[in-house]
Amino acid sequence: NALYNIDGWGAPYFSVNSSGNVTVRPHGDRTLEHQEIDLILAVNKSLSLKTNVHVQLPLIIRFPDVLKNRLECLQSAFNYAVKSECYTSHYQGVYPVKCNQDRFLVEDIVEFGTTFRFGLEAGSKPELLLAMSCLCKGSSESFLICNGFKDDEYISLALIARKLLLNTVIVLEQEEELDSVIDISLKLGVRPVVGVRAKLRTKHSGHFGSTSGEKGKFGLNTTQILRVVKKLGQCGMLDCFQLLHFHIGSQIPSTSLLADGVGEAAQIYCELVRLGASMKVIDIGGGLGIDYDGSKSTDSDISVGYTLEEYAAAVVQAVKFVCDRNSVKHPVICSESGRALVSHHSVLIFEAVSSSKYIVPTMSPFDIQHFVQQLPEDAHLDYINLSQSVVRGDYEACLAYADQLKHKCVEKFKDGLLDIEQLAASDGLCDLIAKEIGASDPVTTYHVNLSVFTSIPDFWGIGQMFPIVPIHRLDEYPTKRGILSDLTCDSDGKIDKFIGGESSLPLHELEGESGMKYYMGLFLGGAYQEALGGVHNLFGGPSVVRVSQSDGPFGFVVTRATPGPSCSDVLRSMQHEPEIMFQALKHRIEEYVDNDGNMDAAMIAGGIAQSFHNMPYLTVGSSCCLTAAN
Ligand code: PLP
Repeated sequence: NALYNIDGWGAPYFSVNSSGNVTVRPHGDRTLEHQEIDLILAVNKSLSLKTNVHVQLPLIIRFPDVLKNRLECLQSAFNYAVKSECYTSHYQGVYPVKCNQDRFLVEDIVEFGTTFRFGLEAGSKPELLLAMSCLCKGSSESFLICNGFKDDEYISLALIARKLLLNTVIVLEQEEELDSVIDISLKLGVRPVVGVRAKLRTKHSGHFGSTSGEKGKFGLNTTQILRVVKKLGQCGMLDCFQLLHFHIGSQIPSTSLLADGVGEAAQIYCELVRLGASMKVIDIGGGLGIDYDGSKSTDSDISVGYTLEEYAAAVVQAVKFVCDRNSVKHPVICSESGRALVSHHSVLIFEAVSSSKYIVPTMSPFDIQHFVQQLPEDAHLDYINLSQSVVRGDYEACLAYADQLKHKCVEKFKDGLLDIEQLAASDGLCDLIAKEIGASDPVTTYHVNLSVFTSIPDFWGIGQMFPIVPIHRLDEYPTKRGILSDLTCDSDGKIDKFIGGESSLPLHELEGESGMKYYMGLFLGGAYQEALGGVHNLFGGPSVVRVSQSDGPFGFVVTRATPGPSCSDVLRSMQHEPEIMFQALKHRIEEYVDNDGNMDAAMIAGGIAQSFHNMPYLTVGSSCCLTAAN
């Protein structure tokens, strides 16, 4: 537990039980030990489900109870801050669906958040369509915030949403959008509610803040905001201007930066009130961060130095201070927290299928003697130098001579002057020496049944680190250090940086107990990873199950299982037509396969058809290291 700092980044949801397995506390309550879900049991149960869908690794396990708890904690942190600061309005958040558009996740958020009017944020037309339909089941007061670049169709949809009595706000991302909003709203006879996204001067200097500040990519500057006020006034629509939004970037590292940004926005808000706009809401965007490494650091992209409660208090205090100074009525505070809401709710489970073992050089003194005799003449001196540095105990020189020797032998081999046995002998000799002096690479490569590009795109794209932990055998000290290499034919398809600044992860020897499988979990990856993942090498997404806490025999139930995309599905996504492909192969089989061999034509056709149907990942069996009865 301490080795992986699970308490640091995982509390209060993840822990380790006395059997050495990672457990999930679905309600985030340490006192409800009897409700803990043993993750390996949940994996095992999911993989052996007796349904018509075949769940396979890699697997995402969603915990809706964790999601509900995150939502409730966010709301109660703001409720508490509102109360303790004597703030005279309330908090009413929205979930930015871009973080994870999974249907059941969004439906859960709407359902769990209905009592406190939690809404949704959309940044594109399909996101708006999904938000509109999901919010039909929510509270009519929940906000539907329309962000992002907008064309006429987007604006029409947003106005229609208002006609359908969804509490829709069109947030201008560009000044030009205003003309379309005015024209289309007049045509449709819908009174719009308009907001603007302000480009703040406050700059978040971390990776995620690269688009904030005066030169940031998004939003309107003060001149543009003033022109919006003027134009709305001229059209008799200044009462439509009701919301001010800003977003200075994800993972805001400290409450001081947050308070700075919120204070600046609150001042703009008060100025808009002074200019006659019917301001009601300040929308502080996302940015509520996650402590991925548990370090509580304020100068790292993967950590934050505050709690939910401290975040909420900083926001409420900053808005109140500025509004009171300007004698402006306290606005409704809206936030668009995505990462903080959904990161914890899912765990990506994958298997290490093999590891590159250190090949112990097997050379007897006789072999060495024999090899040395075969060395090219100009390498003899290197060998003598090498032997002498071994005797002297000068290991640095020893490695340098070994390198020289190896290099010379490779060059000779390329020139055809050395045969492959001699080359292997030179490699073996150098490896032997490295081992003798303790310089052999102690890091093992674990091959994992996963695509980094599909399942952890932020690691590949922006070097974002996530906690990765074996989900069992944690009562056994890991004797190895490993890096993870994925299935793709791409040198970037590996994980060699881990939280805590480590370049390898403490891991166990594979096959510790009679062929027992080795499962790992990637935690806190519920935001962005599924939405950003690609199909490099045509690996599609993982299987997904939902696991809810229950009072039954296992303490949980699997309520929904969805297999990942099949080979046919991913082929189709690149415009291939699996049915036609299969027919072409079938004709070829009929032409070339005679039925008297070991495999007949029907068998081959059946095998190919099955491959189209299966998921692209390695099929390494569906049984788990523990049975459900355990
Ligand atoms: N709102 C807007 C406008 C965003 O661009 C983003 C993401 O960067 C978010 C909300 C969500 O931010 P976070 O995931 O940090 O909560």
